[in-house]
Amino acid sequence: MTKAINYILDIFYPNRCPFCDGFIKWDCLICEKCFAELEYIHACDKCGKVECMCDKSLFYDDAYVLFSYGGIVKESILALKEKNGINAAQFYGEKLSERIIASGKIYDMIVPVPMSKLKKRIRGYNQSSEIAEFISRKLNIPVVDALIKKENTIVQHTLSKKEREENVKGMFLPSDISLSENKIILCDDVITTGSTMNECARILKSMGADYITAVAPATTNLNNTNA
Ligand SMILES: [Zn+2]
Ligand SMILES: [Zn+2]
Repeated sequence: MTKAINYILDIFYPNRCPFCDGFIKWDCLICEKCFAELEYIHACDKCGKVECMCDKSLFYDDAYVLFSYGGIVKESILALKEKNGINAAQFYGEKLSERIIASGKIYDMIVPVPMSKLKKRIRGYNQSSEIAEFISRKLNIPVVDALIKKENTIVQHTLSKKEREENVKGMFLPSDISLSENKIILCDDVITTGSTMNECARILKSMGADYITAVAPATTNLNNTNA
């Protein structure tokens, strides 16, 4: 049924590639040229990094990331931050959903890494929530804003790896939502050092979460942390 609707919609609103905006067939998610450019990454399934950092104490239980943060992936995530390229959020949401479904694990909810209220008011939009929405639709589980970002925290990407780990402490607060025994997907746009995901996971566990899978469309290499 949805397929038929998509086909009919395509006559009026032709389907476009989320990366280059070129026209694509009604049942495609991406054009062939951009698909060839995507650099799938082989990251560790536990920590989500190519250079495994499982020796650090991690509060999330496993992680799925898809691509290396560069080229059209980086462009699309930067565009998404500026509220462009929602189609890329759909593409990432669907690809991450495929990985989650293939794992056979069942989750209760998806929690986006939050941005501060002020920033959200200015931007009107949280890119992690957009990706989370598409995963939510695929898996039929709710998006729950279980975490609160404090105002006026220093922006992570201006800091070194060591400084990031220090800075992230106290950056987020728990909401009053009870998560007892819940299995949670924690969603961000990029995993850089992993310290943001880890701090969010630490708080979710302190709120009662039982199992946390961190997901993000992209991850940086440790020698390229300017994300
Ligand atoms: Zn394309
Ligand atoms: Zn690892």
